[in-house]
Amino acid sequence: MTPLEFDAHHLWHPYTNVADPGAMHLIDRAEGVYLYREDGAKMIDAMSSWWCAIHGHKHPEITSAMQSQLEKMPHVMFGGLTHHPAIDLGRRMVDMLPEGLDRIFYCDSGSVSVEVSMKMAVQYQMAHGRTRKFEFATIRGGYHGDTWKAMSVCDPVTGMHGLFRGALSIQHFLPRPQVRLGDDWPEDPALNGLEALERLLADKGNHLAALILEPVVQGAGGMYFYHPQWLRAARAMCDAYDVLIIFDEIATGFGRTGKLFAADHAGITPDIMCLGKALTGGHISFAATVTSKQVAYGIGNSEAGVFMHGPTYMANPLACAAGSASLRLLAEGDWQRQVADIEDQMRTELEPARGLPGVADVRVLGAIGVVEMKESVDPSVAHRLAPETGVWLRPFARNIYCMPPYIVSPDELGRITSAMVALAGGQQ
Ligand code: PMP
Repeated sequence: MTPLEFDAHHLWHPYTNVADPGAMHLIDRAEGVYLYREDGAKMIDAMSSWWCAIHGHKHPEITSAMQSQLEKMPHVMFGGLTHHPAIDLGRRMVDMLPEGLDRIFYCDSGSVSVEVSMKMAVQYQMAHGRTRKFEFATIRGGYHGDTWKAMSVCDPVTGMHGLFRGALSIQHFLPRPQVRLGDDWPEDPALNGLEALERLLADKGNHLAALILEPVVQGAGGMYFYHPQWLRAARAMCDAYDVLIIFDEIATGFGRTGKLFAADHAGITPDIMCLGKALTGGHISFAATVTSKQVAYGIGNSEAGVFMHGPTYMANPLACAAGSASLRLLAEGDWQRQVADIEDQMRTELEPARGLPGVADVRVLGAIGVVEMKESVDPSVAHRLAPETGVWLRPFARNIYCMPPYIVSPDELGRITSAMVALAGGQQ
């Protein structure tokens, strides 16, 4: 069997049918913005390998930090032991995180960080004697990961976990905030969507541990950008009912939307924030759940006291070293200008797609560009064209989208936007 034949017969890939996995590109090497196939074909990774590789692949400072750490200690348990990589990364995060979020729980993936956030919210409520508060509110169109509790707050109808609906915890879904980012904010609660939140809080506030959502940008649930005023109002309303706010910034954190965190568009701080993906610049799986001191101490003062969660690979030193190097690059680099330039260029170059008959909408925020089609897009077309166009895109549902590494050059970005517009044109 050739390697590709073995892969097709034995390996499971994300969101694929093992009986018919479809075509694969065999990637041998990745460096900067490029993915290199074994046969030498190279493609720009317009997806940053699903939001992660913000500094480009195999960044010399990140790989060398990991190599030095590898020489010293690839892993030790975190129970009863600590180490410099965890502490150094913690310091960097505390310097960067929104004011008030400074207690860090390291996790091994984004989905786990969502599970942890939901467990924390329930335990926090219990600590305050609110023993019935273990349900969650969220908004339609969200995506929070593939594990059980995370699935329960993904969109139950249009999302990818609808099949499991009967087996999931029952949560409370609010309509997706209809006022889009950039539109005028109507004060009328019937028009701005806050009426539904008010009703839910009045009905179920005593049962709600938290409101969990992706702030401003909903990613895998439709690449939808909504008005930050919804979040500002929700914060005040939830406070009145002792409902915590969890922001899932796994995709948006670390500059992707043009601000360090999407929460910064709304100017509010959640009680709990989930981070992942770009935390290590795409070099190794890692994530974190960060909370306010109030949440952390609330849990600490509960009857149980301890927070009952502790993954084996918690605070893996290699991942912490990668995280520190990635955050140092952000802190010392010029990501704001890079992302602003990407945003400007994408606004200009994706605009022509708006005139194509198959296109429903074009939107750009920070280093995220979306061409929304009227019909579902077949990802196999982009897959097949990638070696020819030199651009790796992975459309999903009705969206042809990109979130390139921040280091992408204007010329490389031009190739990405041309490939997107051409793909949108071919879908008519
Ligand atoms: N939340 C959001 C907003 C995400 O985009 C993702 C990943 N696509 C997750 C959670 C889950 O993260 P992971 O795939 O690392 O488990």
